[in-house]
Amino acid sequence: MGSAEVGATWLCSLGGAAALAARDLARLVLPVECAGCGTLDEVLCAGCRAPLTGPPQRCEESAPRLDLMDGRPAFPVWALTPYTGPVRELVVAWKDRGRVDLTQTLTAALAVGAGDVAAVLRAARLGPWPLLVVPAPSSAAARRRRGADLVGLLARSVASGCVAAGVPARAAPVLAQRAGMRDQVGLGARARGRNLGGGVRWRTRADLPAAGQPVLLVDDVLTTGATLAACERAVRAAGGIVVGALTLAATPPPGGFPGTSWNEGPAGESLASTGWPQGWLERAPGRVTVKTRSTHRPPVQGQ
Ligand SMILES: [Zn+2]
Repeated sequence: MGSAEVGATWLCSLGGAAALAARDLARLVLPVECAGCGTLDEVLCAGCRAPLTGPPQRCEESAPRLDLMDGRPAFPVWALTPYTGPVRELVVAWKDRGRVDLTQTLTAALAVGAGDVAAVLRAARLGPWPLLVVPAPSSAAARRRRGADLVGLLARSVASGCVAAGVPARAAPVLAQRAGMRDQVGLGARARGRNLGGGVRWRTRADLPAAGQPVLLVDDVLTTGATLAACERAVRAAGGIVVGALTLAATPPPGGFPGTSWNEGPAGESLASTGWPQGWLERAPGRVTVKTRSTHRPPVQGQ
């Protein structure tokens, strides 16, 4: 090894040592702890990361406000994990306690989940348009408090996950809350519904979707479904059609999610067993018809 190489190696090792020392120093000043469980020296420990590894599960049945969509059926909603325990802690830390060091982990996890959902959407043959991946709008106050549109970041990673899975898609932050909407934080189910009743609008006419263009909604947490229902109304009024929604987590109903086994089985298995989209979304010439659950029939083989 020449002297120059020796010097370079020495500099590299010094650089690595310096970086480690700087990190350790930073941790002395600002100790890092797992956002889910508080374990020291980890942004997110393996145990708290595990629930985010999917596969996503259907959870729209647990959202009472999604059943109130003008007599129309709920669209499928997938979530990576129940909103409980360490997951709840880490999502709150990310949204409301400034833990932006979680953004990379959370967006990457949702991108992987989006690949599973995209496999279902691809089977639905959504037409000639790219899938619009639309984030649920945050209030201006929430964006200021968080320093970024965090749900918008999730939507961008979902669009990437869909594209990687072969479904043409693009993130489209096209929805906005109407003026006068309160931040949803701290509101109960009824108050959320009242707050959001007609409170979501399409941002600009320039971004209007093609008639029947498919839309995948994205939000951080499915709670009552009021937010997604308001988004669906705005999308429908603009001419698009919501074909589903994907969230990081879903609030479980009392007694937990019935009949689901989060994080068990191979990715995609739970999606294939739902019977959607073949019976849920049927294409007719020039339009897309949303079938209600009561008219759902399994597809007939050979037709
Ligand atoms: Zn942890």
